Amino acid sequence: MTAPDQHAALLARIEDKRDDLIALTQDLIRIPTLNPPGDCYRDICDYLDRRLSAAGFTTQLIRATGTPGDSDRYPRWNIVARRDGKTAGECVHFNSHTDVVEVGAGWTQDPFGGALEGGRIYGRGACDMKGGLATSIIAAEAFIEEYPDFAGAIEISGTADEESGGYGGVAYLAEQGYFDPARVHHVIIPEPLGHDRICLGHRGGWWAEIETFGEIAHGSMPFLGDCAVRHMGAVLQAFEAELYPAMAQRRTDMPVVPEGARQSTMNINSIHGGQAEQPADFTGLPAHCVPDSCRIVIDRRFLVEEPLEAVRGEVTALLDGLKADRPNFDYALRELNAVLPSMTDKEAPVVQTVTAAIQDVLGRMPDYVASPGTYDQKHIDRIGRLKNCIAYGPGILELAHKPDEYIDVCDMMDSAKVMALSLTATLLA
Ligand SMILES: [Zn+2]
Repeated sequence: MTAPDQHAALLARIEDKRDDLIALTQDLIRIPTLNPPGDCYRDICDYLDRRLSAAGFTTQLIRATGTPGDSDRYPRWNIVARRDGKTAGECVHFNSHTDVVEVGAGWTQDPFGGALEGGRIYGRGACDMKGGLATSIIAAEAFIEEYPDFAGAIEISGTADEESGGYGGVAYLAEQGYFDPARVHHVIIPEPLGHDRICLGHRGGWWAEIETFGEIAHGSMPFLGDCAVRHMGAVLQAFEAELYPAMAQRRTDMPVVPEGARQSTMNINSIHGGQAEQPADFTGLPAHCVPDSCRIVIDRRFLVEEPLEAVRGEVTALLDGLKADRPNFDYALRELNAVLPSMTDKEAPVVQTVTAAIQDVLGRMPDYVASPGTYDQKHIDRIGRLKNCIAYGPGILELAHKPDEYIDVCDMMDSAKVMALSLTATLLA
């Protein structure tokens, strides 16, 4: 007997919950949890509190006091809900972020309307990731109804601020011990990686501001000053000549998608030198000055094979080389943030159970992927010290943050079945 036959009643229960899944997803989309600034975090936690309490979960609402952006006007609220089984056992935790990014231009749908059209639900956060959150709730509720005497525990969290680094969300909860391996054993993050793919981790990121210095003088006599923009030009030239070719050589064994992100990359986010830009309605002409400062912000994404120290060291070595060779060159480097890569072993238990469930539901092996950008797995890994963590959830990653974002109801139904079957593998004695 195959697993779907064994659990036919569970899968039928999920089929019966299709309308409930749609309504739940729509309700979540209609709470406009925009980040920034961090709107309606309490409202969505209260909604989830009512829903999960009714399903027999014990809930805790946790404010990440003092984290970036937290204020009385925009408090960083999180919810952790736990349903213990009849006997002791392992705990499976579903973590979803509740925040969404700004709407942006180009929508033909109401971004907070949650319209259902042609089997798709539209709205900001539909795929990233309120659809995934709703899917995990439906999977857990169906499982608990079908197997009330299960062993172990199920947790569902809704967390703040993933879109701005997760410091007021998963990082805060991890620091408080919520992802302690003694308490939580398997973590599934229903980010929109696709109903047939398992995301094992993500690349690292290192963000820094580099400033070059000069000396202000009259623009008609630049030889009396020292041009910081020309010094920055030398930095950019060194990046082109040495850093970019070196990064292009480095290929990772991580299964990063899209393919272009399977190497080290660096974006230069911004450049600014000389006089501050004037408001758009300013009609005057610029003054003639040699700029004494120029700044860039770099966004360096790195591979699990690259130590952070090497990533930093490569950039500072180039800058120190210029300092040694180029007259009057001086610089400052200010690190803005650093996030280490995270990569879960393919043999990890959560990968195995979700793989088997995907095979049962979809009749094929999943693709294993890694994400070019980071998500909350980094905090569960580094702060929580919990390695048994993946991202698995419905939706198309490329739709995240785009106009007319949507989630396909069939994808959610498939994913709910996969999640529920993976619970049977872990929580049924
Ligand atoms: Zn997301």
